[in-house]
Amino acid sequence: MTKTPEQIAADTGAELARDVELAGFTTLRVGGKVPVMFTCRSTEALVACVRALDAAGRETLLLAGGSNLLVADGVLDLAVVRIATDGMSIARDGRQAIVRVEAGAVWDDVVARTVEAGLGGLECLSGIPGSAGATPVQNVGAFGVEIASLLRRVRLLDRRSGEIRWVAPAELALGYRTSCLKHSDRAVVLAVELGLTTDGLSAPLRYRELNARLGAGTGERRNAAEVRQAVLALRSAKAMVLDEADHDTWSAGSFFTNPVVDDRTLARIRAAVAARFGDDAAMPAFPEPGGTKLSAAWLIERAGFGKGYPGPHAPVRLSTRHTLALTNRGSGSAADLVALAREVRAGVEAAFGVRLHPEPVLVGCEL
Ligand SMILES: Cc1cc2nc3c(=O)[nH]c(=O)nc-3n(C[C@H](O)[C@H](O)[C@H](O)COP(=O)(O)OP(=O)(O)OC[C@H]3O[C@@H](n4cnc5c(N)ncnc54)[C@H](O)[C@@H]3O)c2cc1C
Repeated sequence: MTKTPEQIAADTGAELARDVELAGFTTLRVGGKVPVMFTCRSTEALVACVRALDAAGRETLLLAGGSNLLVADGVLDLAVVRIATDGMSIARDGRQAIVRVEAGAVWDDVVARTVEAGLGGLECLSGIPGSAGATPVQNVGAFGVEIASLLRRVRLLDRRSGEIRWVAPAELALGYRTSCLKHSDRAVVLAVELGLTTDGLSAPLRYRELNARLGAGTGERRNAAEVRQAVLALRSAKAMVLDEADHDTWSAGSFFTNPVVDDRTLARIRAAVAARFGDDAAMPAFPEPGGTKLSAAWLIERAGFGKGYPGPHAPVRLSTRHTLALTNRGSGSAADLVALAREVRAGVEAAFGVRLHPEPVLVGCEL
């Protein structure tokens, strides 16, 4: 016999809420109503709750910080499992520190605590919203550092076998803003384990804009706290640090990933750029495993969508400080965001023949 949500909550220790508007749980502030949300404050409750919903064949959305989600408007026939665990431990082992964090821990609090503890490695990932458990899902990255370079192990609940085990990063197919966990319901990240340095210095600095601000050379290491402050300042200037009062931050971060193209496609895009802007138009292009990475922001701007597009009175618009962020100005809906994303994507494709792909996970809607 199928269990009721009340029975599942009582059996698993999850907190049950009914008829929840997901707009209150996403940084884009959009998302319709779900019949049930189970909030899990312990790993045991999280495991038991996901297992119970899977056994009942219930379609389930895992949600933590809601900062990489675009959820459709209206009524969604989904059970939401909200991950609200927050345990964290630091163990020092000579020149390395091993930091273990439960999935629901607020990521930037984790970064701040490690920096305060004199540990280096995470400082470039300061200010990224969301949870620790979501960091391997899209291999979060910023200022030349990706979480892949700091992960030692990830603790997963395999939803098919029911097994819980620590897996090595090599098993997760971590790539540029992707992993085998993204767009997949195969596993729940229960915890992550990170390897950090104990000398109080940052990871080697390799991002031009950050190095320029710090006056640092490529590969130099600086005091991790100093680097964190510089990163937070650079991010704030682009509205990439959450601020409830600032609609430019009502986003999911970068809405499109930077396209990675093969040599033939690159030649075609360069020809399209030259035809539009002349031979000396310098399109940013960076070598990347598997091809060349282009700047989605550059392509969007050159296709005619500047910061703030389409204008001050629109319910959703490109951020006035960061071309890549689609933002809700207060009354926007998921449908408005999808329409703007489609318009931008079609404009870039018409201008340069390159198709942009969304970085956030879309739930109940598509581009
Ligand atoms: C202002 C702003 C700036 C941002 N800047 C960056 C940036 O610099 N770099 C970057 O990489 N990203 C950035 N992001 C995107 C986002 O913050 C990250 O992707 C973040 O890791 C998402 O965490 P979350 O807890 O909010 O995930 P959610 O939005 O809650 O979930 C995202 C996806 O992960 C899944 N998921 C969440 N937790 C788990 C889990 N424990 N196990 C399995 N699946 C899970 C969800 O089901 C969903 O599919 C930014 C977002 C915003 C709003």
